[in-house]
Amino acid sequence: MESVADDHRVGPESARLSEPLPGVYAWVQPDGSWWVNNAGAVVGDGSVLVIDTCATAERTQRFLGALDAAVGGAPVRMAVNTHQHGDHTYGNSLLPATTVLFGHTLMREGLRVDPIIDGCPPAWEPVPDWGAVQRRLPDVAVESRQTLYVGQRRVELLHPGGPAHTTGDLVAWLPEEAVLFSGDLVFAGITPLVFMGSVTGALQAVDWLESLEPGIIVPGHGPVLSGADIARILEEHRRYYRFVLDVAEQGIAKGLSPLEAAKEVSLGEFAAWPDPERIVLNLHREYADRAGRELDLAAALGDAVTWLGGLMRTSV
Ligand SMILES: [Zn+2]
Repeated sequence: MESVADDHRVGPESARLSEPLPGVYAWVQPDGSWWVNNAGAVVGDGSVLVIDTCATAERTQRFLGALDAAVGGAPVRMAVNTHQHGDHTYGNSLLPATTVLFGHTLMREGLRVDPIIDGCPPAWEPVPDWGAVQRRLPDVAVESRQTLYVGQRRVELLHPGGPAHTTGDLVAWLPEEAVLFSGDLVFAGITPLVFMGSVTGALQAVDWLESLEPGIIVPGHGPVLSGADIARILEEHRRYYRFVLDVAEQGIAKGLSPLEAAKEVSLGEFAAWPDPERIVLNLHREYADRAGRELDLAAALGDAVTWLGGLMRTSV
């Protein structure tokens, strides 16, 4: 029997390529929850820059196939990973062998030692199968910024200056067109995740993104943003991160664990977002940072499953 939860699953066939500006492409995969990311591309003078791949071979092949058709077979000369997470990187090996791949120094190291590409822990249901992908690391490691030219088109790869979504985030910024590929510094209408980065860093990164004055944002998850939606979604991120900081502060003051603090609080306006269990993961990050210790990844994932009362859902 189909459960209500099954209706929430959205298959690979629902992904779509759009072109918000000529030669600027967004690959948006509904519904943007666990492991279902966005990617994109920029075309200039018959040359292509790809921004992120996808978690599985099938999803990445669909993306690269749709892109190839849209750009008339123009070569993918360059690609960039916005961060280390598998939903944005596991498909790297499906890029042409000749593509030069960029990523932040810490992103490269994170993917180099990532065990999840070799087998996903059973924290998600169903357990994801990545398909025929291999670990492929960036050829060029970026420290803080790198200017790329796609034909005449300028693309700035920029690091927010510290940990935010992860320690090795990069955004791809088109200054002439005011288009921002934000990676997972922006989750549009989906619970933000910062457990491998920093809550305060992510909060600061919102100001940094806003200071670029983007006219279009292709977020890491969720629909493409423009107009008044940009300020609204960024403000939602601020409210959510401040909420996490408040819950952590009160939980620590009361001697509660991250799981206990999450159980005690109401998510309020954030309850309707997909992946609400990320409150537990985000609290684990803030607790670890305040205590000056490493995050226990396995314990954090286990607590998120406990909070949810079952395995985390994925439609990847
Ligand atoms: Zn992601």
